[in-house]
Amino acid sequence: MKTIKVSVVTPDGPVYESDVEMVSTKAQSGELGILPGHIPMVAPLQIGSVRLKNGGKTEYVAVSGGLLEVRPDQVSILAQSAEVSDSIDVERALRAKERAEERLREQQRSHVDFKRAEMALQRAINRISVSEKR
Ligand code: ATP
Repeated sequence: MKTIKVSVVTPDGPVYESDVEMVSTKAQSGELGILPGHIPMVAPLQIGSVRLKNGGKTEYVAVSGGLLEVRPDQVSILAQSAEVSDSIDVERALRAKERAEERLREQQRSHVDFKRAEMALQRAINRISVSEKR
């Protein structure tokens, strides 16, 4: 089986690096399945999961948005934050979810705060959902 190199990098450093058969994720333009030899492209990523398939094994990484760069032999994901499913602290994500929901319930918040709480909520929900896929 042909493979493609994948690296997931955040401002804190690399989070994941491997050779895989397929990378699947959701870009802002829709679902993307990337196989070795894919045409070069760059796409923004939403808060979501990246699925990595290799040798009958599937791994999941939670990403909080960023940029996907595809070259025929390499996929690079540059994310603001990213966690491999096993390394997600579910309790922490549940607390973050609670906090964000509380902020969203509070009235007379500025638009900026509202957006920020909404993004925090999305990150937390995404982490919880990716942790369940391990
Ligand atoms: P929190 O309020 O819990 O910090 P957050 O969404 O504000 O959540 P981020 O700013 O996205 O957190 O991430 C900060 C750092 O903490 C990143 O390195 C991220 O990978 C890590 N991180 C955040 N939440 C979790 C989690 N539930 N499990 C593991 N790592 C996490």
